[in-house]
Amino acid sequence: MPIDPEFPKNHKVIGMHRHADREHFHFVWGPGKEDGESSTDENVQNAYKERGEQYVPLGVHGTFVALDWDSCIADGGCIEVCPVQVYQWYRTENDVPAVQMINATSAGTGEDHQKEGRKDYTDKSEPIREHDCIWCMACVSVCPTQAIKVDQANQKIHQEMKEKLAK
Ligand code: SF4
Repeated sequence: MPIDPEFPKNHKVIGMHRHADREHFHFVWGPGKEDGESSTDENVQNAYKERGEQYVPLGVHGTFVALDWDSCIADGGCIEVCPVQVYQWYRTENDVPAVQMINATSAGTGEDHQKEGRKDYTDKSEPIREHDCIWCMACVSVCPTQAIKVDQANQKIHQEMKEKLAK
């Protein structure tokens, strides 16, 4: 099941992943889904077993560059194709279970250029520089599971949620 195009309506903000620059962050939307592509992907499931980590629903990271981590199978095409390095492999900076990234802080120093930069197939592409997107849509086109929705109009939702949560 690809990313729900209406995820801001059908999900709630469950976390805020901050950039260490203290200026930027992206929201995390949940709950995650049980039946995402990663739940049946052999590479992903084997990697979880090898690590001894529990597989759990994770939700959508980002709002105007949104990546459904339950659909993400760690292909990495988005990481290679993005001309402005919006994405990084989250585990190369924070090697922890993905569920712990819901309210994490990252400096953006992770591997962000190669598919092979993934630690293993439990890794996920994280839109750590969501704010740098230039709307080229290359990542959307290349994703094999349609896990990504890029929508300039969702900047308004990001701003509204930011103001709401600041109150
Ligand atoms: S739309 Fe283009 S610039 Fe934006 S995250 Fe995707 S590949 Fe990067």
